[in-house]
Amino acid sequence: MTDKNQAWTLARTPPLGWPSDGDFAWVEGIVPSPGPGQALTRTIYLSLDPYQWGRRRSGTEAVGDICHGRTVSEVLQSRNESYQPGDFIFNTNGWQTHGLVGDGVDVFGYMFPRKIDPGDAPISTAIGILGMLGLTAYSGLYVQCAPQPGETVVVSAASGGVGQAAGQIARIKGCRVVGVAGIQAKCDYVVNELGFDACVSHLADSYADDLRIACPDGVDIYYENVGGKVYQGVLPLLNKNSRITLCGMISQYGITDGTNAGEVWRETGAAFFERVNTSVHGLFVGNYVASHQAEFLTEMSGWIQDGLVKYREDVSAGLETTPEVFSAMLEGGTFGKTLVLVNDDPTTSPSLAEHRARGNVLAP
Ligand code: NDP
Repeated sequence: MTDKNQAWTLARTPPLGWPSDGDFAWVEGIVPSPGPGQALTRTIYLSLDPYQWGRRRSGTEAVGDICHGRTVSEVLQSRNESYQPGDFIFNTNGWQTHGLVGDGVDVFGYMFPRKIDPGDAPISTAIGILGMLGLTAYSGLYVQCAPQPGETVVVSAASGGVGQAAGQIARIKGCRVVGVAGIQAKCDYVVNELGFDACVSHLADSYADDLRIACPDGVDIYYENVGGKVYQGVLPLLNKNSRITLCGMISQYGITDGTNAGEVWRETGAAFFERVNTSVHGLFVGNYVASHQAEFLTEMSGWIQDGLVKYREDVSAGLETTPEVFSAMLEGGTFGKTLVLVNDDPTTSPSLAEHRARGNVLAP
């Protein structure tokens, strides 16, 4: 444990575009003491997610605030009888080495802190495949789109945190699953490791043709994470009564001309949707926490234990790497669910120091 708290704060409301130098400021202070009903925690894993950029750009996060982020933490001291030193919890320390927790609800409606049993699964999965990302995939793909055996499902950002889960759920439900990803290593991973039937690269000039060839029976379900060119390649392939989960549009998060990405997305798709009676489901995972979290955890834990679902994490070492890794994650430079190891994870190796010595691993 360091004797000081280290953190990244928002240095300015970021201009349009992607993150850049000057958006974040490194600050150090004393480790806080827990008040009545609170516990002091040290952050072990910090989750980096695309939605965090939206919060910063929209002003939801104020200049000077510690940057928001969900975390897996260890309790160091407690004045809350629910938590004992040594407990692992899911909470929202944000981009900092330590944090205080009381009782509350995070921005997606999750109750926190929530205890994590390291005997159930690696503790990092509480902010990955068994956390909000897994539930996002489950509620969009399974609950909203009701996949039927034999249907063709296309998943964009297929090797990322949400995409890898969505595609594997579709595969388990008996669908033909086609991923869309960037570099060849990501495409190979989703086919060879995750069991997708095919994966095409959106980086190829032939992307739209490649997707058409990979979907000879058209597309019944599209799990949308990306928007833009990837989306446009899917539209002409939509089958009658197809369904779309509009989960996210990451290719549009860095646009600089102020375009309303959601409006453009709907206007571009309107004629296609009408022609084939496509149902479009907007998705906010917070709407499914109360109704589907318990069912999801039971299903997904079972699938992981049975070897039916695999997951990949891209773990960067040290809080100091966070802005760089955050930018990389937004633009395809990480591979799998993006996490930062902030302090040692006592349940596994390597240690933070060993991890740092190896160098951080970004996508090949
Ligand atoms: P990922 O781990 O998938 O990381 C983002 C990926 O997006 C990158 O790795 C990259 O993959 C891909 N990408 C980035 N830019 C482009 C581009 N221009 N064209 C095509 N692909 C691009 O992130 P998450 O799994 O955390 O999030 C996936 C999506 O889910 C996001 O849109 C996010 O906003 C959304 N989301 C929505 C929620 C909801 O409640 N609706 C909740 C949580 C997430 P590659 O290298 O393969 O191109």
